[in-house]
Amino acid sequence: MDTEERVNKLKPLLREVLEILGEDPEREGLRRTPERWARALVTYTRGYQDDPENHLKVIFQLDEDDYPMGSDDMVIVDSIAFTSTCEHHIAPFRGLVHIAYIPSPETRIITGLSKLSRVVEVFARRFQVQERMTQQIARAIDEHLSPLGVIVVAQAVHYCMVQRGVEQRGSTTTTTARRGVFLTNSELETRFQEYLKVRMDGSKV
Ligand SMILES: [Zn+2]
Repeated sequence: MDTEERVNKLKPLLREVLEILGEDPEREGLRRTPERWARALVTYTRGYQDDPENHLKVIFQLDEDDYPMGSDDMVIVDSIAFTSTCEHHIAPFRGLVHIAYIPSPETRIITGLSKLSRVVEVFARRFQVQERMTQQIARAIDEHLSPLGVIVVAQAVHYCMVQRGVEQRGSTTTTTARRGVFLTNSELETRFQEYLKVRMDGSKV
């Protein structure tokens, strides 16, 4: 189903939602809202039409001299901004994703740095829970780059909680996903957290 087909099917349904909630969908301000709302929903969920493989198939190989056997140096991309949609309340949650991976000393495969933010986008643009999104990002990197290890940390503010008054304003949720050596070597995670602390010093989500 293409975008226009989706929008056309959603429009009458969303018009009905407005009516059920006590609005007049014919009043001036709301007349085009079902269509705008439908287009917005399609945008928020466009990750369903994408696959992390589309982005992670762009790989490069480091020379053996540049990445010697026994190396455990990390590639870190921090503060990738994302906005996703909570699948329980269909409300936004937004924040930052930080990723570190250690290339395999055997394959020495790396990917373009911008590709990691594309992968975040693929999973964020779906109905999500933050815990699963974090795991999916780590699993995709693990599967496509076969690194020695990967760690993904996500920090987010959930507007479903803010708007319903369940959560204090400014409270953030942090989730972590580890694969490979990050599961067994906690010293690596400590190093990663140290980098983040330096980088994030003074800044907030
Ligand atoms: Zn929610």
